Amino acid sequence: MLIGALEAGGTKMVLAIGNENGEILEQVSIPTETPEITVPRIIDYFKNKNIKALGIGSFGPVDLDRNSKTYGYITSTPKLAWANYDIVGNIKKELNVPIGFDTDVNGSALGEATWGSLKGLESGIYITVGTGVGVGVCINGGLLHGMLHPEAGHVLLSKHPEDDFDGVCPYHPNCIEGLASGPAIEKRWHKKAYELADNDKVWELEAFYLAQGIANYILCLSPHRIVLGGGVMHQEQLFPLIRSQVVSMLNGYVDTPQIKDIDSYIVPAALNGDQGIMGCIKLGLLELEAV
Ligand code: ADP
Ligand code: ZN
Repeated sequence: MLIGALEAGGTKMVLAIGNENGEILEQVSIPTETPEITVPRIIDYFKNKNIKALGIGSFGPVDLDRNSKTYGYITSTPKLAWANYDIVGNIKKELNVPIGFDTDVNGSALGEATWGSLKGLESGIYITVGTGVGVGVCINGGLLHGMLHPEAGHVLLSKHPEDDFDGVCPYHPNCIEGLASGPAIEKRWHKKAYELADNDKVWELEAFYLAQGIANYILCLSPHRIVLGGGVMHQEQLFPLIRSQVVSMLNGYVDTPQIKDIDSYIVPAALNGDQGIMGCIKLGLLELEAV
């Protein structure tokens, strides 16, 4: 059975055809321009491919409330051409298949929960550290949505005493996205993040902020495992630094077998960058089961 998958990002769209085992049979990527240019290209790609459903993991904020008039819309995004845009409705009216819809990070979390590092666990979180910071929460086989969807990339942190950088978030001077996203690293250190690989101070400070966020997520959500993905996490030296800072910040208070085995508690994504698009396949499959 063929399922369409669309990972809708602020700079590019990844389009794929997969099957119920999460296998990706074909995949292309196109730039995110305006909806008038990009959405017809998306429809052309999926048309005549015999897909039974489509899953979309989108940049946001998005409206996921099925009782809302604007369900399936991208809402108040700073990418103005896409603000208040009915992405699900406009694609559905042309393709006429069930469409599963969620945030991009929830898509990745679902991919890891179905086929990757969170498989078989009662709960877990997926954190992306890339252009932004986002957190997807998996719980009892589903995703946590709440009133909107979690926006845990904007939790507020204590600044490092030696860090006088103002952050890149227009809303918060000290949120995790503002202090630890890829653009934050690059603005603070005036170089591309990958060019800073050998500068230990960069990654110690990065781990200090990511660990604070993670300690808060552990205290609030008590996840059974934490998976980290996104471009910045290509810097694998971050993992041991984050693990030891998390243990030190928790200071023995959360005393579980998982925290004692921190190397298998805080782990990289298992799906090698495909967690997002594979999660979109799963979103499509779930929608097909629901109708
Ligand atoms: P997005 O978040 O847009 O989906 P990515 O997860 O690839 O995309 O994140 C892009 C960000 O990740 C860029 O801002 C860049 O700073 C950072 N990044 C990409 N590759 C690396 C790398 N090898 N090392 C460190 N940072 C990287
Ligand atoms: Zn913020």
